Amino acid sequence: MLDLNKIERVMVFGAHGDDEIIGCGGTLAYLSELEKEICVITFTYRETSYLKVSEKSIAMKSADQEMQDADEILGIGKRVVFGLPCRGVVNDKENFERCMKLIRNFRPHVIFTHSPTDFHRDHRAVSLMTDEAREKAWENLQSDWGDPWHTPLVFYYEIFNLISHPSLIVTFTKECLNKKLKAMESQVSQISVLRGIKQQILGRAMERGAFAGGEGVYGEAFKLSDYFPMFLRQGE
Ligand SMILES: [Zn+2]
Repeated sequence: MLDLNKIERVMVFGAHGDDEIIGCGGTLAYLSELEKEICVITFTYRETSYLKVSEKSIAMKSADQEMQDADEILGIGKRVVFGLPCRGVVNDKENFERCMKLIRNFRPHVIFTHSPTDFHRDHRAVSLMTDEAREKAWENLQSDWGDPWHTPLVFYYEIFNLISHPSLIVTFTKECLNKKLKAMESQVSQISVLRGIKQQILGRAMERGAFAGGEGVYGEAFKLSDYFPMFLRQGE
């Protein structure tokens, strides 16, 4: 069974530098309070995510600062930004192998990533790339890229497509919810782009938390990836 209290390292793959907040920001706040190591891989600088033309030229720069702010609020210790073009994230050899190397290097116990059915093209590309890289990181080859590593669990998080049958709900306190909301508010450039995002975050956290815990409990829902099996190995 999954026991987030016993894991040590958590990795998150997100196309844009706020997906980890929307998808699993409360869970990350909870895990950072438990002093877990958190590494986030971000694929773009979301340079297309501006509302006013006057904000176009500063979109990339503000993303950089806003990601740093989110790291501080949620306790993200390490973030790697690929800098790929927004809407142009592709699961090609170079990006895929970079993910594989990062997984071998960080050796996560759980990975959170996008859903393969998400309606954003970058999100779907990242989802498949994560699943494939997680599998390839375990193959017994290319030891110069790091020792093989099997990540026990991969979960898909919710962005705008809600999960109809979650495999996992992580519950957390109001304090963690507030950190998630504060991290979202720190993405100043995105508040006007993402319609009603704070209300969406609050509504989802209330629904998922109440389902799993009751009044005053907040949560996030995830779907277990079955792209590659979990292992139950004798002696471990
Ligand atoms: Zn995104």
